[in-house]
Amino acid sequence: MPISNKTGVPRKDPRYMVVYLKELKHWAIDKLGRKCSECGLVSEYDCVYDFHHEGEDSWSKGHYQQSASTKRTKELIKWKKANSIPTDCKLICSNCHRIKHHGN
Ligand SMILES: [Zn+2]
Repeated sequence: MPISNKTGVPRKDPRYMVVYLKELKHWAIDKLGRKCSECGLVSEYDCVYDFHHEGEDSWSKGHYQQSASTKRTKELIKWKKANSIPTDCKLICSNCHRIKHHGN
């Protein structure tokens, strides 16, 4: 069953997936409380947030794999369908995410 979206962009439009993914990310950020779990940053801008899996290091779970964006897309769609986000996934701001993966 296809997920309905509120974008108003037709499925055949090349912008569809981009707009749809932004909508999914917005949903996930709100569901996770719109607050960085590390530093507490709260922002109205979705682009400052990343999703971090606890226990994930820089070389695992696709961060440096070519398929990382595809993996994230599938993950977001799965979360939305289930209306649930795994508890090991934390909302984190991009600065804290970089520090977690590349600190020092
Ligand atoms: Zn942060």
